[in-house]
Amino acid sequence: MKKIESEKVESDITTHGVNPYNVVKSLLKESVNRLGYNENIYHVLKKPMRMLEVSIPVRMDNGTLENFTGYRAQHIDILGPTKGGIRFHPLVNIDEVKALSIWMSLKSAILDLPLGGGKGGVIVDPEKLSERELETLSRTYIRKITPIIGPQKDIPAPDVNTNPEVMGWMIDEFDQLRGYNIPGMLTGKPIIIGGSLGRLEATGRGVVLTIREAAKVLDMELDKTTVAIQGFGNVGSMTAKFLHELGVKIVAVTDAKGGIYREEGLNIPDLLEFVKNKENYASDYTDAEPITNEKMFSLPVDILIPAAVENQITKDNAPSIQAKVVAEAANGPTTPEGDKILEGKGVFVIPDILCNAGGVTVSYFEWVQNSMNYYWKEEEINQKLEEKMLFGFDTVFKMREEKQCFMRDAAYMVGINHLVKAMHARGWIK
Ligand code: GLU
Repeated sequence: MKKIESEKVESDITTHGVNPYNVVKSLLKESVNRLGYNENIYHVLKKPMRMLEVSIPVRMDNGTLENFTGYRAQHIDILGPTKGGIRFHPLVNIDEVKALSIWMSLKSAILDLPLGGGKGGVIVDPEKLSERELETLSRTYIRKITPIIGPQKDIPAPDVNTNPEVMGWMIDEFDQLRGYNIPGMLTGKPIIIGGSLGRLEATGRGVVLTIREAAKVLDMELDKTTVAIQGFGNVGSMTAKFLHELGVKIVAVTDAKGGIYREEGLNIPDLLEFVKNKENYASDYTDAEPITNEKMFSLPVDILIPAAVENQITKDNAPSIQAKVVAEAANGPTTPEGDKILEGKGVFVIPDILCNAGGVTVSYFEWVQNSMNYYWKEEEINQKLEEKMLFGFDTVFKMREEKQCFMRDAAYMVGINHLVKAMHARGWIK
């Protein structure tokens, strides 16, 4: 089989120093090669099938008109409608959105969800907007992407800096435009208007399930382990909550403003209470010592959990990482150079496209419940989530054994194999 040569055109847009689209392309290419597929499989998978760029004019509270830029990427819909979150962040860019949409396709493929990958983003710092400005931005963005979304086409959800409240504004705008209620047009909604029980906790719950499975294969006793977490948003805080319930000691947490450390373990229930109303940052919590992000990465902990944004574990900090397990709760938190260093040290990495797939899984359950207009109990949802996460972990781990490779390569291969089967079934390839 002809090997795929390196890409001629590489974009130089970066997010936290590295272009995530170049990263995902090179990972796809390696796995397509390793699986012995024709290089055209790579050329199909590397490109979102559809990209939309929109302009979002918002009248600000001071009377001026500002125009924001947003995107929606739809990667591939051969397994089902595309699906993925919407991110509000100043560093959003077209290549990041493309990469994130590819990761969504792989997550759904690994967990055998009948969905493709999609992602949206708006270049904005939501902290600088008033609530009215944020609502106008959310409503205008959804109006602008309305022609390409819908419950059978592409289903948005929350991501970095978006939450059920934002989803509530967005679905309201969409329903008003269409003239009737379409609950399955996005997920992560408030429960009262068709959200699913367990969705808010789902990503963190899924992260912890993969950590539990990793601990089993690595012979680690979770109630004797220590953890450091980067990021204390929805995913980081829920991960901390469920790890704490398993008796894991969380010694450090960092966020966008700083970090906290306590050798004997942070009081997680108290910390969760402290950040609950969103007025406080975790790093403002006083029953702990301050710690920097860099110091946190090098702590002598068993498990390190990046739960923030891309490209946080790099060639600069990877050499000082002491953890035996890195659980990627964020999307794309490790640069390729950082990854090589972790591999060289024998760190067991639970890759993002497996580790954080619990969010889209319960989003899928939300969408299923919306289409039935019949709602399950939380227990049932959590049990179905557990089945899916265990299935995903097991499949990826078996691929790792079979190919004698790292977990990340195994996850890519499982995802790509699944997509290739769908291409066969549709007659795209023989
Ligand atoms: N934004 C989440 C992710 O990156 C969830 C997407 C969804 O629920 O559709 O996986």
